Amino acid sequence: MSLVTLTDVSKSYRRTLALRPVSLELEPGELVALAGPSGSGKSTLLMITGGWETPDTGTVTPHPPLPDLPMAELQWDHVGFVPQSIGLFDELSITDNLAFPARAREDTADREKLLETLDLAKFAHRRPAQISRGEQQRAAVARALVTNPTLVLADEPTSHQDRAHAELVLIRLRAAADAGTTVLVASHDPLLTQHADRTITLAGA
Ligand code: ADP
Ligand code: ADP
Repeated sequence: MSLVTLTDVSKSYRRTLALRPVSLELEPGELVALAGPSGSGKSTLLMITGGWETPDTGTVTPHPPLPDLPMAELQWDHVGFVPQSIGLFDELSITDNLAFPARAREDTADREKLLETLDLAKFAHRRPAQISRGEQQRAAVARALVTNPTLVLADEPTSHQDRAHAELVLIRLRAAADAGTTVLVASHDPLLTQHADRTITLAGA
């Protein structure tokens, strides 16, 4: 049984076709690469999958162990998200950014270990403005993983990384998938295909 079923989802913004109709089954514990040219709808598909955007056509259906609720109600605890915009809380330290989604959970990943794995340990007490864009992006990856969510959606999570740190990010996402999390990653990074179980390529407009 798949974890999430997308059936014929599509989206336009005024006259711009953002996403052609696509159907997709995401299986438990797989790492799926979402490829395709710029503007082909990768971000839009992630946003629709997570319930942050409503598709014009089609449906997104979660299956157990996800609760039978609209995807929009599953964020943070069940669905971790790495936005392209990174989206950390500016007023909170990196440690507190990780504590935010994990606040009500006891079975959280070891936060210190997670920060270490992503080469962020020495920045734990800094605020986002005091670290580089690449470090902020890795912190967003850590925040998405900290609840041990069932599903992780990551939008270009290596776009601000050098090669070595891109590897760290992808190895950590791979480890999450190996531990049972379903991971969908939109990216152009050729490194991603080495870690992915399969690649879905969206056609350009
Ligand atoms: P990708 O992630 O593959 O680059 P996107 O999903 O970001 O593709 O965008 C697909 C198309 O939809 C692009 O032409 C983009 O300009 C358009 N688009 C995306 N979001 C919006 C929006 N909020 N308003 C208007 N157009 C949008
Ligand atoms: P944008 O600037 O493109 O709107 P945001 O950074 O605001 O992107 O994030 C988009 C949405 O994703 C927001 O509703 C935010 O609360 C949510 N979000 C960000 N990180 C996570 C996360 N780790 N888990 C769940 N939801 C998240």
